[in-house]
Amino acid sequence: MSAPLLQAEGIRVSYGRIEAVRGVDLHVGAGEFVGVIGSNGAGKSSLMRAIAGVLSPAGGRVAFGGEDTTGQPSHRMVARGLAMVPEGRMIFADQTVRENLLLGGYSRLRSDPQGVAADEDRMLTLFPRLKERLAQEAGTLSGGEQQMLAIARGLLSRPRLLVIDELSLGLAPVILDMLFPVLAQLNKEGLSILLVEQMASYALSVTDRTYVMENGRMLFDGASRELANDPRVLDAYLGRR
Ligand code: ATP
Repeated sequence: MSAPLLQAEGIRVSYGRIEAVRGVDLHVGAGEFVGVIGSNGAGKSSLMRAIAGVLSPAGGRVAFGGEDTTGQPSHRMVARGLAMVPEGRMIFADQTVRENLLLGGYSRLRSDPQGVAADEDRMLTLFPRLKERLAQEAGTLSGGEQQMLAIARGLLSRPRLLVIDELSLGLAPVILDMLFPVLAQLNKEGLSILLVEQMASYALSVTDRTYVMENGRMLFDGASRELANDPRVLDAYLGRR
């Protein structure tokens, strides 16, 4: 069997005396759509930051594309093909939508202006609401539109793996019903996706496999279809049984 696209082993993240991630293993195969669910403060964001190079893990090892990338800064990870859509989107509020797309850094990474233009067109087809708003200040976009912008910006680096931290944060169900199918479509076209999501029902409905994280540890993982009917998940994350 070939090595997974992403392999994280024994990851530890600490903030001073707080141990947010306490030795976690996770992998994503090429073409896989993987979810991580868990309650507030479980350590999901910290784990994603360690994987994407936003912070350096206190322990453990990250391998991406078969190479050890532990502790490599996020711009290097983007260049290697791992892009992250951070929690809270991190868009530049007083820049226009187009400027935000350009600020994604992909233009520095890529030397094929025609390819970039084609990708930009494709993003705007994927998210037509951005097309109508290219000249608008990004801070005036709705939460859903800002999330579309953050995803589009991530995709413009042509990642092999897109890491999304809390897609649903602050978004209305009507927006989520639009965004999740877009992710499913991108995955079908070959993009590997690692999605952290507090709304477990949404995550379980689109992903192939799901990890359940609590108190800085992975409790269990499995096929999303099976976990959607697992009593441990039904009780704690889906609020029904
Ligand atoms: P949420 O869904 O609420 O974002 P999470 O599962 O993503 O939660 P983290 O954000 O990784 O969890 O937080 C895990 C723990 O680490 C929490 O106790 C949090 O307070 C702490 N923590 C996170 N970031 C920092 C930081 N920059 N400094 C200090 N403590 C932090």
